[in-house]
Amino acid sequence: MNAAIYPGTFDPITNGHVDIATRAAALFDRVIVAVYDRPLKNLLFSTEERVEMIREALKELPNVTVRAYSGLTVNFAQSEGARVIVRGLRVLSDFELEFQMALTNRNLAPGIDTVCLITSQEYAFLSSSIAKEIAMVGGCVDKMVPPHVAVALKDRFRTLGADAGDKVAIVSLRD
Ligand code: ADP
Repeated sequence: MNAAIYPGTFDPITNGHVDIATRAAALFDRVIVAVYDRPLKNLLFSTEERVEMIREALKELPNVTVRAYSGLTVNFAQSEGARVIVRGLRVLSDFELEFQMALTNRNLAPGIDTVCLITSQEYAFLSSSIAKEIAMVGGCVDKMVPPHVAVALKDRFRTLGADAGDKVAIVSLRD
């Protein structure tokens, strides 16, 4: 079985992530979306919430499963029997980071390779940070995230009120 993991923070999942997961599912027999189990401090959604939102967004893809993990990504890949790490590439600045991570991961685990899939044009600008920033100031994110994620963003920002700024890295669309 040709298995791959697709690791990330997914805070929250966007249509760009869905696009990469869908194309990975067509390339590999089995894809495990691997959700970084990071401390909650700077994240808007808990690990459980992120996992649930991804499961709902990808439920039509029978060969995709979603799991949280902590520790090294290559260790998680090995524990899942996967030889490939899938990542998405949008702009040139993504490449630098992905290149560094791919080489580091190869040093750590020579048997595991990184496969980068190029984003679809309509999602080239899209990141979780941008969707969060737009939702935080009451903008419409319906074209950026699945419907249940748009609802979750609205609810979370309503609940957080004035504390919302601490949870969102401001890309700044307002200046
Ligand atoms: P990380 O903290 O690992 O960057 P993210 O959730 O931001 O986690 O992204 C996970 C992966 O999905 C990364 O490889 C990222 O480049 C990719 N990705 C994010 N948004 C898009 C998009 N709009 N199009 C293609 N790939 C994307």
